[in-house]
Amino acid sequence: MKIPETYKNKSLSELKNLATKWTNKVVRKRDEGKKCISCGQYKTLEAGHFYSAGHHDHIRYLLDNIHGQCTRCNRHLHGNLIEYRRGLVVRFGEDFVASLDLKKQNSKGWNGWDRFSLIILIQEMQQKFKELNKSFQL
Ligand SMILES: [Zn+2]
Repeated sequence: MKIPETYKNKSLSELKNLATKWTNKVVRKRDEGKKCISCGQYKTLEAGHFYSAGHHDHIRYLLDNIHGQCTRCNRHLHGNLIEYRRGLVVRFGEDFVASLDLKKQNSKGWNGWDRFSLIILIQEMQQKFKELNKSFQL
């Protein structure tokens, strides 16, 4: 793949920030109008990680690991994780959560994000965001 000009002079941490920005946009768009995954209330949603980005770098941009959460659950209750797990089971089923647990464990050989995978990811997220926007407008 040819690296687009826009990304050529970006540092790794700038690319990570962009990846976070676009991933969160996708999550908030996908979960627009849904309840908070943890407490079940209809509130303004943030993109909240189930497995924290800080401790689980390899799944920090995995959409299955990030869901719309209210500010209270996401920040003040540090993810409100017991209720988060329950919410995931209710919304997606036990298999979904089991598969997410497996992905979390499967970090063997993980070397961190490189520029190339970040650029691919950013472009995928931008594409997803576009598609979600389209389907919301119908
Ligand atoms: Zn909540």
